[in-house]
Amino acid sequence: MSSENLNPVQKEAVDYSDGHLIILAGAGSGKTRVLTSKIARIIGRGLAEPWQVLAMTFTNKAAGEMRERVERMLPGKGSRVRMGTFHSVCAWILRREAHHLGFNENFTIYDADDQKTLMRRLLKGRGISTRITPGIALSYISRCKNDGVTAEEASESASSARDRELAEVYGAYQERLRDSGAFDFDDLLTGVLTLFRQYPDVRNGYASRFSHILVDEYQDTNRVQHELLRELASRGAMVTVVGDDDQSIYSWRGACVENILEFEKDFPGTRMIRLEENYRSKGNILRGAASLVSFNLRRHGKTLWTRQDPGPPVRVKCLYNEQEEAEWILGEIEELLEDGSCPSDSIAILYRTNAQSRQFETACRRRGIRYEVVGSQRFYERMEIKDIIAYLRVLLNHEDRLSLERIINKPGRGLGTKGREAFFDFVDGNGTDPLDAMMMAGGIDGVSSRAASALRDLGLWYRKAAEMTAGGAAALEVVDSLLETTGLAARYDSGDVTDQSRLENIEEFRRSVLEYDQAAPEGGLPGFMTEVSLATTVDDYEGRDSGRIALMTLHCAKGLEFNTVFIAGLEEGMLPFIRPGEYAPSDIEEERRLLYVGMTRAMERLVLTFTLNRIRAGVRQSGPSRFLEEIAAGESRIPPADRDLPGEITSSDDDVDTGIDYRIGNLIRHPRYGRGIVRKAVRNGSEWRITVDFGFDEPKTLVTGYVPIPVIKERADAGDMDQ
Ligand code: ATP
Ligand code: MG
Repeated sequence: MSSENLNPVQKEAVDYSDGHLIILAGAGSGKTRVLTSKIARIIGRGLAEPWQVLAMTFTNKAAGEMRERVERMLPGKGSRVRMGTFHSVCAWILRREAHHLGFNENFTIYDADDQKTLMRRLLKGRGISTRITPGIALSYISRCKNDGVTAEEASESASSARDRELAEVYGAYQERLRDSGAFDFDDLLTGVLTLFRQYPDVRNGYASRFSHILVDEYQDTNRVQHELLRELASRGAMVTVVGDDDQSIYSWRGACVENILEFEKDFPGTRMIRLEENYRSKGNILRGAASLVSFNLRRHGKTLWTRQDPGPPVRVKCLYNEQEEAEWILGEIEELLEDGSCPSDSIAILYRTNAQSRQFETACRRRGIRYEVVGSQRFYERMEIKDIIAYLRVLLNHEDRLSLERIINKPGRGLGTKGREAFFDFVDGNGTDPLDAMMMAGGIDGVSSRAASALRDLGLWYRKAAEMTAGGAAALEVVDSLLETTGLAARYDSGDVTDQSRLENIEEFRRSVLEYDQAAPEGGLPGFMTEVSLATTVDDYEGRDSGRIALMTLHCAKGLEFNTVFIAGLEEGMLPFIRPGEYAPSDIEEERRLLYVGMTRAMERLVLTFTLNRIRAGVRQSGPSRFLEEIAAGESRIPPADRDLPGEITSSDDDVDTGIDYRIGNLIRHPRYGRGIVRKAVRNGSEWRITVDFGFDEPKTLVTGYVPIPVIKERADAGDMDQ
């Protein structure tokens, strides 16, 4: 077996086979590499057969790369290891076991877009769409599900009228999903958990199958995922998780850092290994990133060092507005490309919000630089692709009402509002299978004869397609037959640019079906559809050898690495992000971690930019990000505070000035929190107890004498804090 380069501690982690293992280590220290090598080692040493190993990653793309690497180390074995995201592993289990939960094996998986459509209709139908938005209802429901709370339980514990209403909406939404034979993303996880708890035999089957379970990016798992891991490991599997609490950036989606910090509680006897050498970044990049994250109080401190040279300093550039920012960054990139310092696919521009991509796209086009926006709109969410997918979903699951409504008159079949209503009334009134109803449309009152004949044609195609699928036809055969019969592609042959790009997308879709058919000849259409439903935003990203620079949000960049990274928009309000209508960032530490993740993607060069005049509706936008000073603190003599004692600041500085008189209204500078305005000041001997507004949710009360807190202006107004 050929193995990759590993340092002694990494090797120890790879070889450890006496029990559970947690690797808690900083960015770029080789966690993912260790996990991959460990899988190869387990199989290579005959500790397990490939199918007894389960590896869970954060994106399907990451799983794919891991599989390829294992395959290279152990030809013929890697492809048999079960690898994927928690969601895709759960979908795989549910496809085999759905009947226990009263679902068909061909259940539909609704994505965020489908969920919104469904919810919008539901709220409208109940006449409460003015009070509750789909977004609010769905995030409430998601939170409940990730906390393991059912609609009934939510309703019982509701304390206000609004909570009661939300709980009711939750119940109604679940009912609709069930009627449509559909799971949403959260349901995939909770569905398996319910299944395992109700049917211990089923659980034992899976738990006995896997002898080794490995999880990457464990800091971003939520409670339900943690519980799933416990169930899967309940028959003695050896569990290895790797993660970095400083990179936890999904708490808004229910991720729970405690999972990693308290892993040992649920998996007794866990050995902990820390990796401290960073192989990714030059010294200056690492130092800036480490300084930044040291300002977080809630963390496991860790040491991270590199034997690499310091490299160029981290650059900070101030621009007038966002157009200039984009022009300047692309100008820099053009130079890098011209003098050949860096290939284009190893350059990334990272930003906080999706909307920021537009300026960069424009600037790229102007200069003729090829780019790829990663994760903004998933390929499969484009209208023309969703249409095709909706047709296929109905084929596999006749009850999928959302998809059926989408395609019933697209392309136009002469079915007006009345005809549509008549059709669905007929289906609901008689409990007729919708596909049979298409064949009988001629006899439905209110459906014109033209529409009836078109519906009949559609019904005929569905019959034919069902036979093809049952006979094991390749997915592409079914797709091509669909395109031919319905004219879904032909409607875009006008030759104008938009239509042209839609046609190209359909062609690209056909290619992806073909690739699937070749990779999984057994899968057929059902297999392909599962893969499509589970694609995550990053999965479409080509990365290496794409010949394009990457534009993406900081969230999307997790786990990736680039030679050169630009991070744009380092302004108070943008990064840290302040939500419209709010005064302060909702979780400053998470914003800090997000920037830390972004910075640690860079290998050679890191450039940070901010603007003076960004136009953004409704959001407080005020000056350079406080994070810039915190990054720079790594350069100054102020030590990056504590490493192991969260909540306390220790410093050996002996020149802390204790002779200052603090007054209300003073602008002070704190080495950790930045600038703030004194709101209260009480002297106690030579010590002061001062309450300072740093722009956080709550003012902070500090005792002086430990770190230098100089007064930098006698009387400050709010604007001073932002400079
Ligand atoms: P992140 O926290 O960002 O997910 P990570 O800890 O998973 O990072 P990897 O992606 O596994 O880190 O490794 C970072 C880089 O360092 C990769 O390019 C990897 O190939 C390289 N690397 C890791 N270990 C070694 C080693 N022992 N020798 C040389 N290169 C290494
Ligand atoms: Mg990693």
